[in-house]
Amino acid sequence: MPGFFSQDFIDDLRNRVNIVDFIREYLVLKKQGQNYIGLCPFHAEKTPSFVVSPHKQIYHCFGCGKGGNVYSFLMEKDGLSFPEAVVQLANRCGVPIPQDELSPDKLRQNSLRERYYHINELSANFFQKMLYEPKGKRALQYLQNRGLAEQTCKLFQLGFAPDSWDQLCSFLLQNKVTEKELITLGLAVKSQKGTLVDRFRNRLMFPITNASGKIIGFGGRVLDDTQPKYLNSPETPLFSKGKHLYGLNLARGSIRNKEQAILMEGYMDVITAHQHGVTQAVGTLGTALTEEQCKLLMRYTYNVVTCFDADTAGQKATKRGLDLLQQLGLKVAVMTIPEGEDPDEFLKNQGYEEFQKALLQAYPVFEYNLLKLMEKYNRDDISGKIQIIQELVPDLYRVQSPVKRQGYIQMLAERLSFSEQAIYAEIRKFQTGQSFNNREQSTKNTVQRKKDTVTAADTAQRVLIRLVLETPEILLEVEKAGGKELFSNDLYQEIYQTNYLLSQAGHNIKVEDLVTHLENEEARQVLTEILLSDELLKEGKRIYQDCLTTLEIELLNRKIEEKNILMTQSEKNGDVTKSLKIMAEVQVLIKERQSLLSTLKKGGGNLEG
Ligand SMILES: [Zn+2]
Repeated sequence: MPGFFSQDFIDDLRNRVNIVDFIREYLVLKKQGQNYIGLCPFHAEKTPSFVVSPHKQIYHCFGCGKGGNVYSFLMEKDGLSFPEAVVQLANRCGVPIPQDELSPDKLRQNSLRERYYHINELSANFFQKMLYEPKGKRALQYLQNRGLAEQTCKLFQLGFAPDSWDQLCSFLLQNKVTEKELITLGLAVKSQKGTLVDRFRNRLMFPITNASGKIIGFGGRVLDDTQPKYLNSPETPLFSKGKHLYGLNLARGSIRNKEQAILMEGYMDVITAHQHGVTQAVGTLGTALTEEQCKLLMRYTYNVVTCFDADTAGQKATKRGLDLLQQLGLKVAVMTIPEGEDPDEFLKNQGYEEFQKALLQAYPVFEYNLLKLMEKYNRDDISGKIQIIQELVPDLYRVQSPVKRQGYIQMLAERLSFSEQAIYAEIRKFQTGQSFNNREQSTKNTVQRKKDTVTAADTAQRVLIRLVLETPEILLEVEKAGGKELFSNDLYQEIYQTNYLLSQAGHNIKVEDLVTHLENEEARQVLTEILLSDELLKEGKRIYQDCLTTLEIELLNRKIEEKNILMTQSEKNGDVTKSLKIMAEVQVLIKERQSLLSTLKKGGGNLEG
């Protein structure tokens, strides 16, 4: 959220205001225990559920979930942006906004986030300059061979990380960047000797930006056969895997104008697409499409065409991505690229016109799935037809609109020369199976057991967050036990990780100021809720150990489950060596779990008790 004023100014200003007095100007507050309560100003209610804490300087409504600090309150109540809220609060308190706060240079150096952007920008400039020096000759040649024009390379700020241990580090250190900042931003790593080493060496560099074009991280590609072929920035305060789309800053205008986004996989696909005028293209940055990426796209369009590689990995990515996009209510079509080519090669060899043609022929998802199944099974024989129909039934069952469903059934009947009645019968069968399964699952016992474990793990996560925030000494131990991996809930994970990264970067953040650092409103609300809930904190240390152990066990359970899936897969593929190896790994994890479980029992700790 910050970015406009220096962090010190923001935190100092917040410190001058007592949140209870401040909120009293808007509503009546009554003292209750340590806190104050009142009728929530953000939703209609008759019994008060709006809690304000004078100790923590935050508020939370247990009715509608809104929560935050004095800045969030102003933003929510008066519909202000964050910088506007800061200015208004400064005016109210009679605090002059220091003139140098407003000079761009000062802003850049002061505010943490801006400072990080600035360092990334410096690095991108460094890489870019290297590309055009003798050292970068091979990289430049590579780009030229891939058919990229100089203008395109500049547009995407492509660069080259030289084959040296510390050229970027020494350049940045000369520019007054600290060692800590280099590590925090994932630009350098500590070697075993304790010296700083450039993370990216001898790689073609792709700066990754957020939607407004600020550089949040980097992707680096090797020019030879070294592994890994692609190396991305690690998790940093600016960069998170699966939360961004490559090229969105350049594509967003076009996506709105053309009312369509084209989703691709690789950096080169997106860059080549833009060079050829396909300016609505964005990339998934090498991960399977995530829900956050889908939601990001939804800010600009509801119309998405996927254009992934023709290979099987690409096809799998397509299937998962399609399900996700559809679940979120987007209109999705699939563009098919001829076998053996990726979108980048297709564009280079066939050009814009052919790409447009292929784009117009993109298949709606249902048709695409049908097509794939018709390639997989023999539709001329009856068992092949039945296979195809059975695999499509779940898709048909999910189609919400009856008209659409009717259309698909007709299409299916025609393509397979099968009767519509028979297809309807299959859907009904599936439907009964579904509800039968549901009924079976809902026997009291299973549900109850499931509910219990969910609550225990959830409680443990909440308590642990609270403890980490209120007793920073335990942070290292929690990090060692698994850190953010311990949290299965995304929002808890975001709160934990933001706090962890800030403290790693040497910032001593107060709990009430952490609210200002969370970009995600949901995460802010969850944080205030956790901080103001009367949760099991009285027993201190014992609860903490139990929480940590519970979550370590949960994490082990997830790991064991993953390994079991891998094991089944390698058994299916007949890879005995691999499956035995995994089995041994599972044994180790199970032992670990056993010993954790016994400590949990010894302690007699029951979170619900
Ligand atoms: Zn409320």
